[in-house]
Amino acid sequence: MNKLEIIDLKVEVGGIEIIQGVTLTFHPGQIHALMGPNGSGKSTLANAIMGHPKYKITQGKILLDGKDITHEKTNLRAKAGLFLSFQYPSEITGVAIGNFLRTAVNNLREQKYSVVEFHHLLKEKMAQLKMDSSFMRRYLNEGFSGGEKKRAEILQLIMLEPRYALLDEADSGLDVDAIKTVAEGINLVRKTQQEMGIIIITHYNRILEYLHPDQVSILYQGKIIASGGYELATRIEKEGFEPVIKNGHQRRIN
Ligand code: ADP
Ligand code: MG
Repeated sequence: MNKLEIIDLKVEVGGIEIIQGVTLTFHPGQIHALMGPNGSGKSTLANAIMGHPKYKITQGKILLDGKDITHEKTNLRAKAGLFLSFQYPSEITGVAIGNFLRTAVNNLREQKYSVVEFHHLLKEKMAQLKMDSSFMRRYLNEGFSGGEKKRAEILQLIMLEPRYALLDEADSGLDVDAIKTVAEGINLVRKTQQEMGIIIITHYNRILEYLHPDQVSILYQGKIIASGGYELATRIEKEGFEPVIKNGHQRRIN
């Protein structure tokens, strides 16, 4: 019963149907990689799951532990345990990371952290992520490098403790070392929060080498055209998306 189910979902953006009937199941404690070339609809699907108002669900359902959340507001989805990290995190001047995170975390919790308690916890988590604690006082993402932005997203993930985390291109625009740091952050979450289901969206195998996902699904032109285990991701690394796309196309014709 514990799962996040996407059932025959269709999503429209600006009057165009981008997601064209996607069915996927995400399980607690598993890493599910959602791959696909640029423009496949990966971010659209993630935004629709999180309830972004610009993404209109025209068909299908999203069920969290059997409960229909297809048309719930985003804040209620967050309270229910969904989290989305952005492909392009916004810079927010005047809002220090520490305050931002305390507000966000306390918003989701019955028992609120005091300023001192929270500070203590945040410092500990930042140390685990090898982030300098001076970052706490910096404005959210302002002047951050690509790698620092992604690490700030992982810090949010660790502090918010969602049940299902959608990580949209946590690796994009990063050099090899930064990808490794982000992957280590995700692996840390995996150890400390073993029940979390992680959905990692990427068009690139590199980060998956560190994460070894339990499941891999390929999205192309708004449809799932292939699914499998980690071997599917390694095949894409060697051969690109082309053979999988051709195969998927063949299957649809037959
Ligand atoms: P991916 O994340 O797989 O690269 P996206 O979900 O970002 O793909 O985009 C899928 C398609 O939807 C693209 O053709 C893109 O141009 C279109 N699209 C996404 N967001 C919008 C939007 N806000 N308005 C219009 N078209 C959009
Ligand atoms: Mg995207």
